Amino acid sequence: KLSNSLGAADIATALHPYTNARRHEEAGPMVMRRGDGVRVEDAQGKTYIEALAGLWSVAVGFSEPRLVEAARRQMEALPYYHSFAHKAHEPAIRLGEKLVEMTPEGLDRVFFTNSGSEANDTVVKMVWYMNNALGRPEKKKFLARTKGYHGITVASGSLTGLPANHRDFDLPVIPVTHLTCPHHYRFGRDGESEADFTARLLAEAEEVIEREGPETIAAFIGEPLMAAGGVMPPPEGYWPGIEALCRKHDILLVSDEVICGFGRLGSPFGCTHYGFTPDIMVTSKQLTSSYMPLAAVIFSEKIYDAIADNSAKIGTFGHGFTGSGHPVATAVGLENLAIIEERDLMGNAARMGARLQEGLRRFAGHELVGEVRGTGLIAGLELVRDKATRESFDPVGKVGTLAFEIAHEEGMVIRNVGDTLALCPPLIVTEADVDEIVARMGRILDRTLEKVKA
Ligand code: PLP
Repeated sequence: KLSNSLGAADIATALHPYTNARRHEEAGPMVMRRGDGVRVEDAQGKTYIEALAGLWSVAVGFSEPRLVEAARRQMEALPYYHSFAHKAHEPAIRLGEKLVEMTPEGLDRVFFTNSGSEANDTVVKMVWYMNNALGRPEKKKFLARTKGYHGITVASGSLTGLPANHRDFDLPVIPVTHLTCPHHYRFGRDGESEADFTARLLAEAEEVIEREGPETIAAFIGEPLMAAGGVMPPPEGYWPGIEALCRKHDILLVSDEVICGFGRLGSPFGCTHYGFTPDIMVTSKQLTSSYMPLAAVIFSEKIYDAIADNSAKIGTFGHGFTGSGHPVATAVGLENLAIIEERDLMGNAARMGARLQEGLRRFAGHELVGEVRGTGLIAGLELVRDKATRESFDPVGKVGTLAFEIAHEEGMVIRNVGDTLALCPPLIVTEADVDEIVARMGRILDRTLEKVKA
């Protein structure tokens, strides 16, 4: 009764993010009410293994009492304060210090926002402000990639490379060029080796830089492993090649680690995993296990100096949010990072990630599966109509949605990005959890195949 009335109220009042609204009116919400470790329970009492960690984000699981206690303590001491006009408080200072310590050499300054999208908007504004300050106002363009995901505000949504997001919202509104998505399975040409594919993408990037003029290009932004666009690891050599191009042409390199950061790939950060050093890193999600909204832009002293020198001249760096460095969010972030370290959850992600990847690769021969991909605790299985030709189902997403619904019936939460089934479980998963995820995935694939054939 309760869930029925909740469902009716939701249908009557809500517009859901990233949801087909008319379909939602028919199907109603899946109301969640409780979390326990890697599992969540809906209002009917059905439990699910949460194989997407919420939205790729809950590192420590759904019932960590230390995060609750950290929030409670901070709520009691100082529930809110801001950081405008020289104000500060301990949790934000300590978390900033911790992030500088954890991230690679050269990332020495931190700016907090509430979300990954705001963090990427902040990157755009910081880079523009810096180049204005350095007397090169024409250096404003961004390079990003097709199928990259950097958020949904008007600037971060412009960096995102999903054509539908642009078409439906009149984006981009900032100068950005989207380069080819570095996914060999889909964007490699017939017979092109991975090495040749990488060389072609690097040549394309250099050609764009030279055509547009390096003096007009401010930054390159990318996810180390492209996640929300369909879990696509980069080809070997791609990142070192991009880093070299950025250095050669004085272009800032931005690593969007909103999903890859804090151990997801089995390494501390995506950039450490793929061997490059960014000038700016963007983190969020696993930073607080998403118990509180928080994101951090971590950047070099050189960028800081340009901003600081300019604000000394003109007065103020006029950017920031009411919630920038929120004390409760930063207190939760600090405790969350302490748990990740104390319990060696990054090491666990590497070990359990290897088991997950091995388990899922058993489905490479499955009739429905075109490619199994991923590294660490993030994986994607792309479903295709024809394995030999890689032909997709038409329309793309129909079979993925079917598998997504079957997954719910099977008691597992996943996400379908078109026809790619994405998995990204909490970093606390055990061997038994991983084996269960793999076993359930097997049933989901078999049942989806039966329906496709029927
Ligand atoms: N950047 C990346 C790589 C993301 O995956 C996301 C969200 O999924 C964002 C940015 C945007 O973060 P938010 O949803 O907190 O605005």
